Amino acid sequence: MSLEGWGREAQERLKASQVLIAGAGGLASATALYLLAGGIGGIRLVDEARIGLSDLNHQVLFREQDLGKAKATVAGLRLREINPFVVVETQVKVLSEHNVFRLAAGCTLLIDASNNATAGALLNLAAVRQQIPLVHAWVWGMTGRLTTLWPGHGPCLSCAFLESPSTIRPALLSPLPGIMGSLQALEVLRILGGLKPALLGRLLTFKGDLFEFTEKLIRANSHCSVCSS
Ligand SMILES: [Zn+2]
Repeated sequence: MSLEGWGREAQERLKASQVLIAGAGGLASATALYLLAGGIGGIRLVDEARIGLSDLNHQVLFREQDLGKAKATVAGLRLREINPFVVVETQVKVLSEHNVFRLAAGCTLLIDASNNATAGALLNLAAVRQQIPLVHAWVWGMTGRLTTLWPGHGPCLSCAFLESPSTIRPALLSPLPGIMGSLQALEVLRILGGLKPALLGRLLTFKGDLFEFTEKLIRANSHCSVCSS
């Protein structure tokens, strides 16, 4: 692969990278797929949930025969089929304060594809401790959002003070997590390849009903209780 700003060195940096992905649902189906196809070195996938019928319209790694099985396990099997040269580790567990630092150890970047505020906050603690980027996405209804947090270089997730969506509805139509997951993968590839993050300090929102992208600037808070000390 050769394109402006992306050559052998970027590809080798990507190959040497390992990421933690929280969530193995609709966002991760797209994010992980493109990271594997792009040639990332390794991913660690964590999700405690099991596959339900309503997941099948937007969690595209899963099939009807997978119903009732653990998402992380099945996603790991499918992803290894796509690129057997990538190290794919899966953990069927709830991300907690007891395991997040161990799960994030050795990772160069963290990916929040969990659609869960608690998991996001835990990933943020690990990002702050390791001073590594956290690429956060969330999808609900017909809306998706995406931003890059990088303690030491910009805001952390706590500084950004993002509200949890008032209704925890899953994506209404199947492409929404695919769109946001693809953008999330693009941002992760940029950072791991050594290009500048596109969304550091920028919160991008996509409204699928209007086909509209908007953005808002977010800044590091010098009094942030999580990252300022
Ligand atoms: Zn902060």
